[in-house]
Amino acid sequence: MPKTAIVVGAGFAGLSTAALLAKQGMQVTLLEKNETIGGRARLWKHAGFTFDMGPSWYLMPEVFERFFGHFDRKVSDYYHLSELDPYYRVFFNPGEFADITPDYQNTKRVFDYFEPGGGEQLDTYMELARYKYKVAMDQFLYREYSSIFQFFNRKMMREGLKLNVLDQMDRFVSRYFKDRRSKQLLEYAMVFLGTSPQKAPALYSIMSHVDIDLGVHYPMGGLGAVAKGFASLAREQGVNIRTNADVTSIRSKNGQIEGVMVGDEYLTADTVVYTGDYPYAEMELLDKSSRSFGSRYWRSRTLSPSMFLMYIGLDRKLSNFKHHTLYFEEDWTRHFKTIFDSPEWPLDPCFYVSVISKTDPQAAPEGGENVFVLVPVAPGLDDTDEKREEYAEHVLDHITRITGEDLRVQQNVQRIFSHRDFKADYHAYQGTALSMAHTLFQTAVFRPPHHSKKVKGLYYTGHYTHPGVGVPMTLISSEIVAGEIQKSRQ
Ligand SMILES: Cc1cc2nc3c(=O)[nH]c(=O)nc-3n(C[C@H](O)[C@H](O)[C@H](O)COP(=O)(O)OP(=O)(O)OC[C@H]3O[C@@H](n4cnc5c(N)ncnc54)[C@H](O)[C@@H]3O)c2cc1C
Repeated sequence: MPKTAIVVGAGFAGLSTAALLAKQGMQVTLLEKNETIGGRARLWKHAGFTFDMGPSWYLMPEVFERFFGHFDRKVSDYYHLSELDPYYRVFFNPGEFADITPDYQNTKRVFDYFEPGGGEQLDTYMELARYKYKVAMDQFLYREYSSIFQFFNRKMMREGLKLNVLDQMDRFVSRYFKDRRSKQLLEYAMVFLGTSPQKAPALYSIMSHVDIDLGVHYPMGGLGAVAKGFASLAREQGVNIRTNADVTSIRSKNGQIEGVMVGDEYLTADTVVYTGDYPYAEMELLDKSSRSFGSRYWRSRTLSPSMFLMYIGLDRKLSNFKHHTLYFEEDWTRHFKTIFDSPEWPLDPCFYVSVISKTDPQAAPEGGENVFVLVPVAPGLDDTDEKREEYAEHVLDHITRITGEDLRVQQNVQRIFSHRDFKADYHAYQGTALSMAHTLFQTAVFRPPHHSKKVKGLYYTGHYTHPGVGVPMTLISSEIVAGEIQKSRQ
Protein backbone atom coordinates (compact mmCIF):
# COMPACT_ATOMS: atom_id res chain seq x y z
CA MET A 1 0.00 0.00 0.00
CA PRO A 2 1.56 3.34 -1.07
CA LYS A 3 2.61 5.32 1.99
CA THR A 4 4.94 8.01 0.71
CA ALA A 5 4.21 10.74 -1.80
CA ILE A 6 6.23 13.42 -3.52
CA VAL A 7 4.16 16.29 -4.89
CA VAL A 8 6.00 18.48 -7.40
CA GLY A 9 5.03 22.15 -7.51
CA ALA A 10 3.64 24.42 -4.78
CA GLY A 11 0.96 26.24 -6.78
CA PHE A 12 -2.67 25.78 -5.75
CA ALA A 13 -2.79 22.28 -7.27
CA GLY A 14 0.31 21.12 -5.41
CA LEU A 15 -0.55 22.68 -2.06
CA SER A 16 -4.09 21.30 -2.11
CA THR A 17 -3.10 17.81 -3.32
CA ALA A 18 -0.35 17.57 -0.70
CA ALA A 19 -2.80 18.51 2.07
CA LEU A 20 -5.35 15.92 0.90
CA LEU A 21 -2.76 13.12 0.64
CA ALA A 22 -1.35 13.91 4.07
CA LYS A 23 -4.88 13.74 5.47
CA GLN A 24 -5.11 10.22 4.02
CA GLY A 25 -2.13 9.33 6.22
CA MET A 26 0.57 9.51 3.56
CA GLN A 27 3.98 10.95 4.31
CA VAL A 28 4.16 13.87 1.88
CA THR A 29 7.05 15.98 0.61
CA LEU A 30 6.19 18.97 -1.56
CA LEU A 31 8.98 20.20 -3.87
CA GLU A 32 8.90 23.67 -5.41
CA LYS A 33 11.55 25.02 -7.76
CA ASN A 34 11.01 28.69 -6.84
CA GLU A 35 11.99 30.40 -3.63
CA THR A 36 8.39 31.07 -2.64
CA ILE A 37 5.15 29.09 -2.77
CA GLY A 38 1.99 29.94 -4.76
CA GLY A 39 3.11 29.06 -8.30
CA ARG A 40 1.51 31.45 -10.77
CA ALA A 41 -0.20 33.01 -7.74
CA ARG A 42 3.06 34.12 -6.10
CA LEU A 43 3.52 37.51 -4.49
CA TRP A 44 6.23 39.98 -5.52
CA LYS A 45 7.20 42.64 -2.99
CA HIS A 46 9.15 45.71 -3.99
CA ALA A 47 9.57 49.26 -2.66
CA GLY A 48 6.63 48.92 -0.28
CA PHE A 49 4.29 47.46 -2.94
CA THR A 50 2.95 43.87 -2.75
CA PHE A 51 1.89 42.55 -6.15
CA ASP A 52 -0.18 39.47 -6.90
CA MET A 53 1.91 38.12 -9.78
CA GLY A 54 -0.87 36.12 -11.42
CA PRO A 55 -4.51 35.52 -10.51
CA SER A 56 -6.46 38.36 -8.97
CA TRP A 57 -10.12 37.26 -9.34
CA TYR A 58 -11.35 35.12 -6.46
CA LEU A 59 -14.24 33.28 -8.09
CA MET A 60 -16.49 30.37 -7.05
CA PRO A 61 -16.04 30.89 -3.27
CA GLU A 62 -18.00 27.70 -2.56
CA VAL A 63 -15.18 25.60 -4.05
CA PHE A 64 -12.68 27.03 -1.55
CA GLU A 65 -15.16 26.59 1.32
CA ARG A 66 -15.79 22.98 0.32
CA PHE A 67 -12.04 22.33 0.18
CA PHE A 68 -11.34 23.64 3.69
CA GLY A 69 -14.45 21.76 4.85
CA HIS A 70 -12.65 18.46 4.13
CA PHE A 71 -10.36 19.38 7.03
CA ASP A 72 -13.14 20.67 9.30
CA ARG A 73 -11.87 24.18 8.65
CA LYS A 74 -13.41 27.32 7.16
CA VAL A 75 -11.99 29.84 4.71
CA SER A 76 -12.22 32.47 7.46
CA ASP A 77 -9.75 30.42 9.56
CA TYR A 78 -7.09 31.37 6.98
CA TYR A 79 -8.02 34.63 5.23
CA HIS A 80 -10.70 37.30 5.07
CA LEU A 81 -12.93 37.87 2.03
CA SER A 82 -14.39 41.19 1.01
CA GLU A 83 -17.12 41.47 -1.65
CA LEU A 84 -16.20 44.06 -4.28
CA ASP A 85 -18.60 46.85 -5.25
CA PRO A 86 -18.55 47.32 -8.16
CA TYR A 87 -17.43 43.83 -9.10
CA TYR A 88 -15.69 45.40 -12.10
CA ARG A 89 -15.71 48.27 -14.59
CA VAL A 90 -15.67 47.74 -18.35
CA PHE A 91 -14.57 50.31 -20.93
CA PHE A 92 -16.10 49.79 -24.39
CA ASN A 93 -14.69 52.88 -26.11
CA PRO A 94 -12.47 55.75 -24.95
CA GLY A 95 -14.30 57.25 -21.96
CA GLU A 96 -17.38 54.97 -22.29
CA PHE A 97 -17.76 52.47 -19.46
CA ALA A 98 -20.24 50.44 -17.40
CA ASP A 99 -19.92 49.18 -13.83
CA ILE A 100 -21.19 45.71 -12.94
CA THR A 101 -22.22 45.72 -9.29
CA PRO A 102 -23.67 43.25 -6.75
CA ASP A 103 -27.09 44.83 -7.49
CA TYR A 104 -28.57 42.57 -10.20
CA GLN A 105 -31.30 45.14 -11.02
CA ASN A 106 -28.52 47.57 -11.88
CA THR A 107 -26.92 44.97 -14.17
CA LYS A 108 -30.29 44.54 -15.91
CA ARG A 109 -30.46 48.31 -16.43
CA VAL A 110 -27.00 48.19 -18.03
CA PHE A 111 -28.25 45.57 -20.51
CA ASP A 112 -31.46 47.60 -21.12
CA TYR A 113 -29.29 50.61 -21.93
CA PHE A 114 -27.32 48.55 -24.47
CA GLU A 115 -30.35 47.16 -26.28
CA PRO A 116 -34.17 47.20 -25.98
CA GLY A 117 -35.37 44.34 -23.78
CA GLY A 118 -31.74 43.51 -22.80
CA GLY A 119 -32.59 43.22 -19.08
CA GLU A 120 -35.38 40.73 -19.71
CA GLN A 121 -33.15 38.71 -22.01
CA LEU A 122 -30.54 38.70 -19.26
CA ASP A 123 -33.09 37.07 -16.91
CA THR A 124 -33.64 34.23 -19.39
CA TYR A 125 -29.92 33.83 -20.08
CA MET A 126 -28.99 33.81 -16.39
CA GLU A 127 -31.66 31.28 -15.52
CA LEU A 128 -30.07 28.89 -17.97
CA ALA A 129 -26.56 29.72 -16.76
CA ARG A 130 -27.63 28.94 -13.17
CA TYR A 131 -29.12 25.63 -14.20
CA LYS A 132 -26.03 24.68 -16.23
CA TYR A 133 -23.72 25.61 -13.38
CA LYS A 134 -25.61 23.32 -11.01
CA VAL A 135 -25.53 20.40 -13.43
CA ALA A 136 -21.84 21.02 -14.18
CA MET A 137 -20.96 21.09 -10.46
CA ASP A 138 -23.09 18.03 -9.66
CA GLN A 139 -22.16 15.88 -12.64
CA PHE A 140 -19.26 17.13 -14.77
CA LEU A 141 -16.58 18.91 -12.82
CA TYR A 142 -15.86 16.79 -9.75
CA ARG A 143 -15.49 13.51 -11.61
CA GLU A 144 -12.73 11.52 -13.20
CA TYR A 145 -13.10 10.40 -16.81
CA SER A 146 -11.04 7.29 -17.37
CA SER A 147 -12.34 6.62 -20.87
CA ILE A 148 -14.14 8.36 -23.68
CA PHE A 149 -17.11 5.99 -23.18
CA GLN A 150 -17.65 7.41 -19.72
CA PHE A 151 -18.02 10.84 -21.27
CA PHE A 152 -20.18 9.80 -24.17
CA ASN A 153 -22.58 7.50 -22.33
CA ARG A 154 -26.27 8.10 -22.74
CA LYS A 155 -26.82 9.95 -19.48
CA MET A 156 -23.86 12.25 -20.04
CA MET A 157 -24.94 12.94 -23.60
CA ARG A 158 -28.44 13.81 -22.38
CA GLU A 159 -27.06 16.12 -19.71
CA GLY A 160 -24.38 17.39 -22.09
CA LEU A 161 -26.97 18.51 -24.62
CA LYS A 162 -28.79 20.44 -21.89
CA LEU A 163 -25.49 22.10 -21.08
CA ASN A 164 -24.91 23.07 -24.74
CA VAL A 165 -21.60 21.22 -24.75
CA LEU A 166 -21.73 20.88 -28.53
CA ASP A 167 -22.79 24.48 -29.21
CA GLN A 168 -20.33 27.34 -29.71
CA MET A 169 -20.25 30.12 -27.12
CA ASP A 170 -20.42 33.12 -29.48
CA ARG A 171 -23.28 31.64 -31.51
CA PHE A 172 -25.14 30.78 -28.32
CA VAL A 173 -24.86 34.29 -26.84
CA SER A 174 -25.87 35.86 -30.19
CA ARG A 175 -29.21 34.06 -29.95
CA TYR A 176 -30.05 36.18 -26.92
CA PHE A 177 -28.23 39.48 -27.54
CA LYS A 178 -27.44 41.68 -30.51
CA ASP A 179 -25.43 44.55 -29.03
CA ARG A 180 -21.69 43.90 -29.01
CA ARG A 181 -21.33 45.29 -25.48
CA SER A 182 -23.96 42.91 -24.02
CA LYS A 183 -22.29 40.02 -25.82
CA GLN A 184 -18.83 40.98 -24.66
CA LEU A 185 -19.95 41.18 -21.03
CA LEU A 186 -21.20 37.62 -21.26
CA GLU A 187 -18.25 36.28 -23.24
CA TYR A 188 -15.16 37.97 -21.83
CA ALA A 189 -14.59 35.27 -19.21
CA MET A 190 -13.59 32.89 -22.02
CA VAL A 191 -10.17 34.52 -21.77
CA PHE A 192 -10.02 33.27 -18.13
CA LEU A 193 -10.34 29.81 -19.64
CA GLY A 194 -7.58 30.48 -22.11
CA THR A 195 -9.84 30.44 -25.14
CA SER A 196 -12.01 32.68 -27.34
CA PRO A 197 -15.83 32.90 -27.63
CA GLN A 198 -15.50 31.45 -31.15
CA LYS A 199 -13.70 28.35 -29.91
CA ALA A 200 -15.29 27.72 -26.50
CA PRO A 201 -18.26 25.38 -26.04
CA ALA A 202 -21.42 27.16 -24.84
CA LEU A 203 -21.22 25.11 -21.62
CA TYR A 204 -19.02 27.95 -20.39
CA SER A 205 -21.91 30.39 -20.25
CA ILE A 206 -21.85 29.13 -16.63
CA MET A 207 -19.14 31.77 -16.16
CA SER A 208 -21.83 34.49 -16.16
CA HIS A 209 -23.43 32.80 -13.16
CA VAL A 210 -19.96 32.67 -11.60
CA ASP A 211 -19.36 36.42 -11.79
CA ILE A 212 -22.82 38.06 -11.94
CA ASP A 213 -24.60 35.79 -9.38
CA LEU A 214 -21.89 34.31 -7.15
CA GLY A 215 -20.00 37.58 -7.13
CA VAL A 216 -16.44 38.81 -7.21
CA HIS A 217 -14.58 38.77 -3.91
CA TYR A 218 -11.16 39.94 -2.84
CA PRO A 219 -9.16 37.99 -0.27
CA MET A 220 -7.36 40.58 1.87
CA GLY A 221 -3.64 40.22 1.18
CA GLY A 222 -4.40 39.08 -2.37
CA LEU A 223 -4.43 35.61 -3.93
CA GLY A 224 -0.92 35.25 -2.49
CA ALA A 225 -2.51 35.33 0.98
CA VAL A 226 -4.84 32.53 -0.11
CA ALA A 227 -1.86 30.44 -1.26
CA LYS A 228 -0.27 31.10 2.14
CA GLY A 229 -3.46 29.80 3.78
CA PHE A 230 -3.24 26.61 1.73
CA ALA A 231 0.43 26.21 2.70
CA SER A 232 -0.47 26.58 6.40
CA LEU A 233 -3.20 23.96 6.02
CA ALA A 234 -0.74 21.59 4.28
CA ARG A 235 1.87 22.06 7.02
CA GLU A 236 -0.77 21.43 9.70
CA GLN A 237 -1.46 18.09 7.99
CA GLY A 238 2.26 17.27 8.24
CA VAL A 239 3.42 18.09 4.70
CA ASN A 240 7.11 18.87 4.40
CA ILE A 241 7.38 21.84 1.99
CA ARG A 242 10.77 22.37 0.35
CA THR A 243 11.37 25.42 -1.86
CA ASN A 244 14.35 25.97 -4.21
CA ALA A 245 13.92 22.31 -5.18
CA ASP A 246 13.78 22.01 -8.98
CA VAL A 247 12.95 18.44 -10.01
CA THR A 248 15.32 17.51 -12.83
CA SER A 249 14.09 14.00 -13.63
CA ILE A 250 11.34 11.55 -12.74
CA ARG A 251 12.60 7.99 -12.23
CA SER A 252 10.74 4.71 -12.74
CA LYS A 253 11.65 1.02 -13.04
CA ASN A 254 9.66 -1.60 -14.91
CA GLY A 255 6.77 0.79 -15.30
CA GLN A 256 6.61 1.62 -11.57
CA ILE A 257 7.44 5.04 -10.14
CA GLU A 258 10.53 5.15 -7.95
CA GLY A 259 11.26 8.80 -7.23
CA VAL A 260 12.64 12.08 -8.51
CA MET A 261 15.99 13.81 -8.80
CA VAL A 262 16.49 17.31 -7.42
CA GLY A 263 19.89 18.16 -8.83
CA ASP A 264 22.19 15.42 -7.43
CA GLU A 265 19.75 14.39 -4.72
CA TYR A 266 17.61 11.29 -5.27
CA LEU A 267 14.31 11.23 -3.41
CA THR A 268 12.20 8.07 -3.45
CA ALA A 269 8.45 7.68 -3.02
CA ASP A 270 5.82 5.18 -4.06
CA THR A 271 3.56 7.95 -5.45
CA VAL A 272 4.60 11.06 -7.38
CA VAL A 273 2.09 13.77 -8.28
CA TYR A 274 3.37 16.28 -10.81
CA THR A 275 1.54 19.61 -10.70
CA GLY A 276 3.94 21.70 -12.78
CA ASP A 277 3.32 22.07 -16.51
CA TYR A 278 2.49 18.65 -18.02
CA PRO A 279 4.49 19.00 -21.29
CA TYR A 280 7.68 19.80 -19.37
CA ALA A 281 7.36 16.67 -17.22
CA GLU A 282 6.63 14.45 -20.18
CA MET A 283 9.21 15.83 -22.60
CA GLU A 284 12.02 16.89 -20.26
CA LEU A 285 11.84 14.84 -17.07
CA LEU A 286 10.82 11.33 -18.20
CA ASP A 287 12.87 9.04 -20.40
CA LYS A 288 11.39 8.38 -23.83
CA SER A 289 9.93 4.97 -23.01
CA SER A 290 8.04 6.39 -20.02
CA ARG A 291 6.27 9.21 -21.87
CA SER A 292 2.52 9.03 -22.42
CA PHE A 293 2.67 11.94 -24.89
CA GLY A 294 5.47 13.04 -27.19
CA SER A 295 6.29 16.37 -28.78
CA ARG A 296 3.88 15.78 -31.69
CA TYR A 297 0.96 15.56 -29.24
CA TRP A 298 1.87 18.85 -27.54
CA ARG A 299 2.49 20.64 -30.84
CA SER A 300 -1.00 19.67 -31.99
CA ARG A 301 -2.75 21.12 -28.90
CA THR A 302 -4.33 24.58 -28.89
CA LEU A 303 -2.40 26.40 -26.22
CA SER A 304 -3.89 29.09 -24.01
CA PRO A 305 -2.57 32.60 -24.43
CA SER A 306 0.58 33.85 -22.85
CA MET A 307 0.31 37.20 -21.11
CA PHE A 308 2.13 40.47 -21.29
CA LEU A 309 2.08 41.67 -17.69
CA MET A 310 3.21 44.86 -16.04
CA TYR A 311 3.51 45.40 -12.28
CA ILE A 312 3.39 49.15 -11.70
CA GLY A 313 3.73 51.04 -8.42
CA LEU A 314 2.47 54.63 -8.45
CA ASP A 315 3.08 57.42 -5.94
CA ARG A 316 -0.40 58.84 -6.54
CA LYS A 317 -4.05 57.83 -6.59
CA LEU A 318 -6.00 56.87 -9.73
CA SER A 319 -9.60 57.96 -10.21
CA ASN A 320 -10.74 56.27 -13.43
CA PHE A 321 -10.01 52.68 -12.40
CA LYS A 322 -11.92 50.39 -10.06
CA HIS A 323 -10.42 47.33 -8.31
CA HIS A 324 -10.93 45.38 -11.57
CA THR A 325 -11.14 47.27 -14.88
CA LEU A 326 -11.41 45.72 -18.34
CA TYR A 327 -11.39 47.12 -21.85
CA PHE A 328 -13.07 45.37 -24.80
CA GLU A 329 -12.24 46.79 -28.20
CA GLU A 330 -15.08 47.21 -30.70
CA ASP A 331 -13.93 44.38 -32.96
CA TRP A 332 -12.25 42.10 -30.46
CA THR A 333 -12.08 39.21 -32.95
CA ARG A 334 -8.99 41.06 -34.29
CA HIS A 335 -7.32 40.58 -30.92
CA PHE A 336 -8.39 36.92 -30.65
CA LYS A 337 -7.01 36.29 -34.16
CA THR A 338 -3.57 37.53 -33.10
CA ILE A 339 -3.66 35.01 -30.24
CA PHE A 340 -5.07 31.89 -31.90
CA ASP A 341 -4.84 32.22 -35.70
CA SER A 342 -1.95 34.43 -36.81
CA PRO A 343 0.31 35.00 -33.80
CA GLU A 344 1.58 38.57 -33.44
CA TRP A 345 1.67 41.32 -30.81
CA PRO A 346 -1.86 42.86 -30.88
CA LEU A 347 -1.98 46.56 -31.79
CA ASP A 348 -5.14 47.85 -30.07
CA PRO A 349 -5.57 45.09 -27.56
CA CYS A 350 -8.26 44.39 -25.03
CA PHE A 351 -6.68 44.70 -21.58
CA TYR A 352 -7.29 44.14 -17.92
CA VAL A 353 -6.03 46.39 -15.14
CA SER A 354 -6.30 45.55 -11.48
CA VAL A 355 -5.71 48.10 -8.74
CA ILE A 356 -5.90 46.05 -5.55
CA SER A 357 -4.88 49.02 -3.41
CA LYS A 358 -8.45 50.32 -4.00
CA THR A 359 -9.53 47.61 -1.52
CA ASP A 360 -6.33 46.65 0.27
CA PRO A 361 -4.33 49.52 1.81
CA GLN A 362 -1.44 47.12 2.59
CA ALA A 363 -0.77 46.59 -1.13
CA ALA A 364 0.85 50.02 -1.66
CA PRO A 365 2.54 52.70 0.45
CA GLU A 366 0.18 55.40 1.73
CA GLY A 367 -1.04 57.66 -1.07
CA GLY A 368 0.15 55.17 -3.71
CA GLU A 369 -1.55 52.70 -6.00
CA ASN A 370 -0.70 49.07 -6.87
CA VAL A 371 -1.40 48.47 -10.56
CA PHE A 372 -1.35 45.20 -12.52
CA VAL A 373 -1.72 45.37 -16.31
CA LEU A 374 -2.53 42.27 -18.36
CA VAL A 375 -2.72 41.88 -22.15
CA PRO A 376 -3.44 38.34 -23.44
CA VAL A 377 -1.02 37.54 -26.29
CA ALA A 378 -0.16 34.49 -28.39
CA PRO A 379 2.21 31.94 -26.86
CA GLY A 380 5.59 31.50 -28.57
CA LEU A 381 6.10 35.19 -29.58
CA ASP A 382 9.57 36.65 -29.75
CA ASP A 383 9.97 38.23 -26.32
CA THR A 384 13.19 40.29 -26.57
CA ASP A 385 14.22 43.22 -24.35
CA GLU A 386 13.64 45.69 -27.20
CA LYS A 387 10.20 44.28 -28.06
CA ARG A 388 9.10 44.39 -24.42
CA GLU A 389 10.11 48.00 -23.92
CA GLU A 390 8.51 49.06 -27.18
CA TYR A 391 5.31 47.10 -26.48
CA ALA A 392 5.07 48.43 -22.90
CA GLU A 393 5.11 52.01 -24.24
CA HIS A 394 2.50 51.09 -26.83
CA VAL A 395 0.20 49.52 -24.22
CA LEU A 396 0.58 52.45 -21.82
CA ASP A 397 -0.28 54.94 -24.60
CA HIS A 398 -3.29 52.80 -25.47
CA ILE A 399 -4.47 52.65 -21.82
CA THR A 400 -4.14 56.44 -21.55
CA ARG A 401 -6.28 56.89 -24.67
CA ILE A 402 -9.05 54.57 -23.40
CA THR A 403 -9.16 55.43 -19.69
CA GLY A 404 -7.71 58.93 -19.51
CA GLU A 405 -5.06 57.78 -16.98
CA ASP A 406 -1.36 57.77 -17.82
CA LEU A 407 0.29 55.06 -15.73
CA ARG A 408 3.74 56.60 -16.35
CA VAL A 409 3.02 59.69 -14.25
CA GLN A 410 4.63 59.47 -10.76
CA GLN A 411 5.64 55.90 -11.46
CA ASN A 412 7.87 54.36 -8.82
CA VAL A 413 8.02 50.69 -9.91
CA GLN A 414 7.62 49.02 -13.30
CA ARG A 415 8.38 45.38 -13.98
CA ILE A 416 7.46 43.45 -17.13
CA PHE A 417 6.69 39.72 -17.01
CA SER A 418 6.03 37.78 -20.21
CA HIS A 419 6.81 34.62 -22.23
CA ARG A 420 10.39 34.09 -21.21
CA ASP A 421 9.56 34.61 -17.52
CA PHE A 422 6.73 32.05 -17.69
CA LYS A 423 9.26 29.62 -19.19
CA ALA A 424 12.05 30.39 -16.73
CA ASP A 425 9.91 30.61 -13.59
CA TYR A 426 7.40 27.77 -14.20
CA HIS A 427 8.89 25.69 -17.05
CA ALA A 428 5.90 26.80 -19.13
CA TYR A 429 5.66 25.27 -22.61
CA GLN A 430 5.94 28.02 -25.26
CA GLY A 431 5.63 30.54 -22.43
CA THR A 432 1.88 29.93 -22.08
CA ALA A 433 0.37 31.57 -19.00
CA LEU A 434 -2.61 29.26 -18.71
CA SER A 435 -1.82 25.80 -20.15
CA MET A 436 -4.23 24.40 -22.78
CA ALA A 437 -7.24 26.27 -24.16
CA HIS A 438 -10.74 25.08 -23.23
CA THR A 439 -11.94 24.14 -26.69
CA LEU A 440 -14.51 21.34 -26.92
CA PHE A 441 -11.84 18.79 -27.78
CA GLN A 442 -9.68 19.92 -24.89
CA THR A 443 -12.45 19.70 -22.29
CA ALA A 444 -13.12 16.93 -19.72
CA VAL A 445 -12.04 13.53 -21.09
CA PHE A 446 -10.07 15.29 -23.85
CA ARG A 447 -7.64 16.92 -21.43
CA PRO A 448 -4.51 14.88 -20.63
CA PRO A 449 -5.34 12.31 -17.91
CA HIS A 450 -4.64 12.53 -14.20
CA HIS A 451 -2.45 9.44 -14.34
CA SER A 452 0.50 8.45 -16.51
CA LYS A 453 -0.37 5.79 -19.08
CA LYS A 454 3.13 4.31 -18.80
CA VAL A 455 4.28 4.71 -15.19
CA LYS A 456 2.24 3.27 -12.33
CA GLY A 457 2.17 5.60 -9.34
CA LEU A 458 2.81 8.75 -11.41
CA TYR A 459 -0.07 11.23 -11.40
CA TYR A 460 -0.72 14.69 -12.80
CA THR A 461 -2.99 17.43 -11.61
CA GLY A 462 -3.39 21.20 -12.00
CA HIS A 463 -4.42 23.42 -14.89
CA TYR A 464 -3.48 21.03 -17.75
CA THR A 465 -5.84 18.36 -16.42
CA HIS A 466 -9.63 18.21 -16.04
CA PRO A 467 -11.46 20.43 -15.12
CA GLY A 468 -8.74 22.87 -16.20
CA VAL A 469 -7.67 26.47 -15.91
CA GLY A 470 -8.34 28.74 -12.93
CA VAL A 471 -7.67 28.47 -9.22
CA PRO A 472 -11.02 26.83 -8.28
CA MET A 473 -10.57 24.32 -11.12
CA THR A 474 -7.14 23.29 -9.84
CA LEU A 475 -8.66 22.63 -6.39
CA ILE A 476 -11.26 20.40 -8.01
CA SER A 477 -8.55 18.54 -9.98
CA SER A 478 -6.70 17.92 -6.71
CA GLU A 479 -9.78 16.38 -5.14
CA ILE A 480 -10.13 14.12 -8.17
CA VAL A 481 -6.51 12.98 -8.14
CA ALA A 482 -6.43 12.49 -4.36
CA GLY A 483 -9.58 10.36 -4.72
CA GLU A 484 -7.89 8.23 -7.42
CA ILE A 485 -4.80 7.75 -5.25
CA GLN A 486 -6.96 6.79 -2.29
CA LYS A 487 -8.73 4.17 -4.41
CA SER A 488 -5.37 2.74 -5.50
CA ARG A 489 -4.38 2.38 -1.84
CA GLN A 490 -7.41 0.24 -0.90
C1 LIG B 1 -1.46 36.34 -15.10
C2 LIG B 1 -2.47 35.31 -14.69
C3 LIG B 1 -3.71 35.71 -14.25
C4 LIG B 1 -4.64 34.75 -13.85
N1 LIG B 1 -5.83 35.18 -13.35
C5 LIG B 1 -6.65 34.29 -12.74
C6 LIG B 1 -7.72 34.76 -11.93
O1 LIG B 1 -7.92 35.96 -11.80
N2 LIG B 1 -8.49 33.82 -11.28
C7 LIG B 1 -8.24 32.48 -11.39
O2 LIG B 1 -8.96 31.68 -10.77
N3 LIG B 1 -7.21 32.03 -12.15
C8 LIG B 1 -6.40 32.89 -12.79
N4 LIG B 1 -5.30 32.46 -13.48
C9 LIG B 1 -5.08 31.02 -13.63
C10 LIG B 1 -4.53 30.40 -12.36
O3 LIG B 1 -3.52 31.21 -11.84
C11 LIG B 1 -3.97 29.02 -12.67
O4 LIG B 1 -4.94 28.24 -13.35
C12 LIG B 1 -3.56 28.27 -11.41
O5 LIG B 1 -2.89 29.13 -10.51
C13 LIG B 1 -2.68 27.11 -11.80
O6 LIG B 1 -2.26 26.45 -10.64
P1 LIG B 1 -1.37 25.15 -10.75
O7 LIG B 1 -1.04 24.76 -9.36
O8 LIG B 1 -2.00 24.16 -11.66
O9 LIG B 1 -0.04 25.63 -11.53
P2 LIG B 1 1.09 26.64 -11.07
O10 LIG B 1 0.54 27.76 -10.32
O11 LIG B 1 1.90 26.94 -12.27
O12 LIG B 1 1.96 25.78 -10.06
C14 LIG B 1 2.90 24.83 -10.51
C15 LIG B 1 4.15 24.95 -9.66
O13 LIG B 1 5.06 23.94 -10.05
C16 LIG B 1 6.38 24.47 -10.00
N5 LIG B 1 7.22 23.63 -10.83
C17 LIG B 1 7.16 23.49 -12.19
N6 LIG B 1 8.08 22.60 -12.59
C18 LIG B 1 8.76 22.18 -11.48
C19 LIG B 1 9.83 21.28 -11.25
N7 LIG B 1 10.40 20.61 -12.26
N8 LIG B 1 10.26 21.11 -10.00
C20 LIG B 1 9.69 21.77 -8.95
N9 LIG B 1 8.66 22.63 -9.11
C21 LIG B 1 8.21 22.84 -10.36
C22 LIG B 1 6.20 25.88 -10.53
O14 LIG B 1 7.28 26.72 -10.15
C23 LIG B 1 4.89 26.28 -9.87
O15 LIG B 1 5.12 26.86 -8.61
C24 LIG B 1 -4.33 33.38 -13.91
C25 LIG B 1 -3.08 32.98 -14.38
C26 LIG B 1 -2.15 33.92 -14.75
C27 LIG B 1 -0.80 33.48 -15.21
